[in-house]
Amino acid sequence: MTTTTDTTADAPDAPDKTDAAPSPILLLTGVVCEVERLSPSFVRIWLGGEGFEQVGPEGTTLDQRIKIVIPNDGHPVPSSVIEADDWYAAWLALPEIERGHLRTYTARFVTGEGVDRRLVVDFVLHGSGGQGRGGSGGPCGPAATWAAGARLGDTLGVLAPRRGHEDGFGGIEFAPGDAHRLLFCADETALPAVASILESLPVDAEGVAVIEVPAAADFLDVVIPPGVAVHWIARGERPRGQTSIETLRTHCGLGAARDRAAHSVADTVGAEPGDDVWETPVFSSSGETLDCPERRAEPVGADDTYAWVAGDSATVKTIRRMLVGELGMPRRQVAFMGYWKDEDATR
Ligand SMILES: Cc1cc2nc3c(=O)[nH]c(=O)nc-3n(C[C@H](O)[C@H](O)[C@H](O)COP(=O)(O)OP(=O)(O)OC[C@H]3O[C@@H](n4cnc5c(N)ncnc54)[C@H](O)[C@@H]3O)c2cc1C
Repeated sequence: MTTTTDTTADAPDAPDKTDAAPSPILLLTGVVCEVERLSPSFVRIWLGGEGFEQVGPEGTTLDQRIKIVIPNDGHPVPSSVIEADDWYAAWLALPEIERGHLRTYTARFVTGEGVDRRLVVDFVLHGSGGQGRGGSGGPCGPAATWAAGARLGDTLGVLAPRRGHEDGFGGIEFAPGDAHRLLFCADETALPAVASILESLPVDAEGVAVIEVPAAADFLDVVIPPGVAVHWIARGERPRGQTSIETLRTHCGLGAARDRAAHSVADTVGAEPGDDVWETPVFSSSGETLDCPERRAEPVGADDTYAWVAGDSATVKTIRRMLVGELGMPRRQVAFMGYWKDEDATR
């Protein structure tokens, strides 16, 4: 298995460190303290160990992203040999076999104090380890393979925010501002994030959440405000993202998807992001400058909705075209995040 490039490694998470302040980035060796099989496609892993008493964020985790490093067999977790500051360059400088595999995950929640402090991560067992790609067989990357076989005492590298210094670490994209309605669309990899966000909302929050997972047995328990309508979708054998897109089109009052060749939305969607789609009100993987005075002066959309969309890149790009191109949602009210690339995607 080769080491893949991490698409969010150069996202704006760089530390803003003064001499006096500790680095906002914690680089730790995480020890598996508990393994909980949540459903056919999800395993929850509780990580702790030396230094975890410092792990943030404090309070709600929202969509807080973290990095993990899965070590190669027979090689130590590289967190013991690199410094937190300038960690990416230092990690890249290691011989490939010692680097292990860098991946991005979500802090589902952080709990406990002192030696009992735990960072909890929900891993999707895609490929042969779970229900992804229509059942058994198919590729299964280093992270999902590690999670599927995780035992108490196993270790991996963890990059997480230092509590009290979360702003310097970054990695939370959910920023609805004053929007009154919320629209979420998530696949299984984004369910940990959207679940944390939904559980943090005030009781009078309003909106809709479309959550697509491999099977009905993966509909996890999430505490959701009564004003947020949730559409759980079991993908089964249907193409990835198809039912989510149809559900959103119906919810938004759009007709059946138009022929893309006949559908020119270039004026409204701006530069099309590449395969690694990542577009928030302040950052676009297309290279476009979004956080500028003109953008900030744009009027708030007619229905005052903020959209948070994450999942496989192809589905996220389709939903971006739909919400921004067809529906005309202002780009400062949307966050579109390709969490991973489906190498079988044909859209
Ligand atoms: C901000 C952010 C937060 C994320 N949070 C989580 C999280 O909390 N939980 C989680 O499970 N994932 C999460 N992901 C997604 C995760 O990083 C990817 O799924 C990652 O590719 C898994 O690494 P891997 O080593 O298992 O597979 P890789 O080595 O990256 O990929 C191996 C093969 O598997 C395919 N593949 C990768 N992921 C999937 C999948 N989910 N289903 C089907 N095929 C897949 C790839 O296309 C490739 O062919 C997050 C990603 C981002 C960017």
